[in-house]
Amino acid sequence: MKNTIYLMRFHHTDRVDQTKNRLKKLFKTAGFDKIVAANDITAVKVHFGEPGNTTYLSPHYVEPIVRMIKSCGAKPFVTDTNVLYKSRRDNAIDHLSVATEHGFTSKKLGAPVIIADGIMGRNETEIEIAAPLNKTISLATEIVSANSAIVISHATGHLATGLAATIKNLGMGMSSRKGKLTQHSVSKPIISERKCTACGICANWCPVDAIIVGDEFAVINEDICIGCGECLAVCRFNAVKFKWDSSSELLQKQVAEHALGIVKQKNGKIAYMTFMIKMTKDCDCLAQKPEIVLDDIGVLAGTDPVAIDQAVYDLTKQRSDKSLSELSYPSLDANVQLEYGEKIGLGSREYRLVETEF
Ligand code: SF4
Ligand code: SF4
Repeated sequence: MKNTIYLMRFHHTDRVDQTKNRLKKLFKTAGFDKIVAANDITAVKVHFGEPGNTTYLSPHYVEPIVRMIKSCGAKPFVTDTNVLYKSRRDNAIDHLSVATEHGFTSKKLGAPVIIADGIMGRNETEIEIAAPLNKTISLATEIVSANSAIVISHATGHLATGLAATIKNLGMGMSSRKGKLTQHSVSKPIISERKCTACGICANWCPVDAIIVGDEFAVINEDICIGCGECLAVCRFNAVKFKWDSSSELLQKQVAEHALGIVKQKNGKIAYMTFMIKMTKDCDCLAQKPEIVLDDIGVLAGTDPVAIDQAVYDLTKQRSDKSLSELSYPSLDANVQLEYGEKIGLGSREYRLVETEF
């Protein structure tokens, strides 16, 4: 039987109080009240947004979900994990300050805000998955500790995976530092000697000091590089390139296997809401001025992460002839994460779309 994925159409300029009420209805319609049980501790996975980013998902959309979880008798906490690259989101103390600045406060959300992988991203739990690339993976302990999880994702393009939506939020977003390193280690950038001006900005941002700046150009030590992509993001001279043709494919497979780990661990007690509003070329980790590539469609809800992301792909393609990933990074094939996700048992690409009437 095909998965049912619910689509609630809305625009980010719609009245917030109306959207909140509709999201509460969507929670019930999609059967999330059957997944979250009384007395569960429930992780609500979000992305607090990089400082300087203005298109991350507003806490307005998280608060009604928290309320609905509480109405099931469960105890929700709102959570994310630390990032690998140099940022105020690379440790729990500064990360929580960013969350507060972006409106994700306990007072506003009605639930505590907790960084799931500890102060420095090392609070992790190994999970066995016996997948083709990984026998075990490292996930953020506080997400593993939760009895159930609601994963709230923002669909965007992504410079390495083409599409960043539900699977990316699960696989990368719920992993500990070690888990993220495993995923990123497949891709290493190179610096163009011709384009590089030896300005040194990338070296200042590199979290592991893998970049040596010479008199005329910079060089990356591949043995030290962890593939975080920070140098690509900060170079203003377009001098950094990833060998995406091979590494994007492997990265997407790694992300899908890590997503499989959390889905297996939650054993049916996990559900997803993925927002197709303010859809930008790059993900919410980028502090740069976001480029919106597609008009809003709404929000999807369901219990299959592959089906939801397939629906994101299809709906965005219907809207503009090109999918969100094709509009954002046309040289990358985001289908890899969908096909591989299906192959390893993360979910199914087959779905039945039901548009809500409210
Ligand atoms: S930021 Fe770009 S131009 Fe500057 S040193 Fe790094 S690669 Fe070269
Ligand atoms: S050289 Fe490697 S580790 Fe350093 S910023 Fe670039 S991708 Fe990240």
